[in-house]
Amino acid sequence: MKYLLIFGLTMAVIWLWQGKRRSNMADKTSPKKPKPQSRPRQLPATEIVACDVCSVHLPRTEALTSGRGVYCSDAHRRQAEG
Ligand SMILES: [Zn+2]
Repeated sequence: MKYLLIFGLTMAVIWLWQGKRRSNMADKTSPKKPKPQSRPRQLPATEIVACDVCSVHLPRTEALTSGRGVYCSDAHRRQAEG
């Protein structure tokens, strides 16, 4: 009777140990959600240039560039270059 009790206790310990191990393995294999990135979304790099006449800042893609300078509008280009 004493051995049966020890056997039962041993089985219970093994069962608990295996159950714990199984849950640990499940944690490892379960797909983890990617951590939310705190880094702000980066905008595409755009060079900012200043108009030679009014010094307004604008992206180079929207600026009027000529041999003599960078301008925000055709009016300022004409004003500067004549
Ligand atoms: Zn301008």
